[in-house]
Amino acid sequence: MQLADRARGISPSPTLSIDAKAKAMQAQGIKIINFSAGEPDFDTPEHIKKAAVEALAAGFTKYTPVPGINELREAVVATLKKNRSLDYDPSQVVISVGAKHALYNAMQVLLNPGDEVLLCHPYWVSYYEQVKLAGAVPRVLETSEATGFKITPEQLAAAVTPRTRVLLLNSPSNPAGSVYTREELAALAEVILAKNLLVISDEIYSALVYDGREHVSIASLGPEIKERTILIDGVSKTYAMTGWRIGWAVAPRPVAKAMADLQSHSTSNPTSIAQKAAVAALTGTQEPVEEMRREFERRRDRLLAGLQALPDVTCLKPEGAFYLFPNVSGLFGRRYGEKVLANSTDVAEVLLQEAQVAVVPGIAFGADAYLRFSYATSREQIEEGIERIGRFVEQLT
Ligand SMILES: *Cc1c(COP(=O)(O)O)cnc(C)c1O
Repeated sequence: MQLADRARGISPSPTLSIDAKAKAMQAQGIKIINFSAGEPDFDTPEHIKKAAVEALAAGFTKYTPVPGINELREAVVATLKKNRSLDYDPSQVVISVGAKHALYNAMQVLLNPGDEVLLCHPYWVSYYEQVKLAGAVPRVLETSEATGFKITPEQLAAAVTPRTRVLLLNSPSNPAGSVYTREELAALAEVILAKNLLVISDEIYSALVYDGREHVSIASLGPEIKERTILIDGVSKTYAMTGWRIGWAVAPRPVAKAMADLQSHSTSNPTSIAQKAAVAALTGTQEPVEEMRREFERRRDRLLAGLQALPDVTCLKPEGAFYLFPNVSGLFGRRYGEKVLANSTDVAEVLLQEAQVAVVPGIAFGADAYLRFSYATSREQIEEGIERIGRFVEQLT
């Protein structure tokens, strides 16, 4: 079958495929400790589920306006005002089928073939593919543990070419868990304005920051940078609502309108009752969010201590999201039985086969020295996982 070039160029999401492999082993009765999932393990809070049930019972089951119901767009505006001191009009909000869809829409309406998009390494896999799907060219800004996996303004300025259109920023970040401070964002904003770039700011982990940090949106740093920001967020990570598929973009009016027009020819509105649930999430009690955040913080500390205790493994303390990103290059060249561990894929595969521990190889994020551990799993699983990995590392020769 002859497929379009566009389809043949797509690499499937490696994070989802490892999760699928782990789940398949689990279905065979093998007990897997799964650190590969990119979603909270908590159940969606009751009051949110109830809102969906009520919407269903009330027959709220028809098409809604393409960019979402007013109630939800207004709730997004009110939340941005409250949490990030941002002023928007509901007409600037486009509700989509998850934040991933909002990102896709944004790239489709902003990028021409040949345009360059700057991604910060280690980057979330879908950015790379979505840039390519828009016919544009992903360019990667390297970072390291030394800079806390953050780019610098000098580095950004030096990377800009006449074709550079967009910087993709993700704070708190997946996979490294880095969080940019207000000062760091202000310095980046200066370069963005000077170089006439746009910034797509993926703030899907905004609610998950630790050690008393605050989440800052680059859009909140002044009217000029706000006019150049497409802010992406959603309910998936904050409210344990990954399956509901509600996310949004908040953008300057012409961009928002183009995104809604594009969406009108693909998915139309996101699911009606999921939108009602999202309204309940944003306008209801935020206590479950804080409870989940605190639990994530405790798990981060426990898993971090476990990983840092491993010989030849180093791990920075992440500041947000729910991932740890240890450097395992110290294990490269060693053997498990006959198998030489040459890269992150080898380590992840042998860990899954021999220790039944599922993690994502860093190569999936363009960073082959690392593994990504999600701590969106129970503390019992974390304890068991630490033990299994400890035994695994001991067996390497
Ligand atoms: C999970 C995730 C998303 C997508 O979230 P959905 O709203 O479920 O589509 C976007 N960006 C990053 C960095 C993520 O980790």
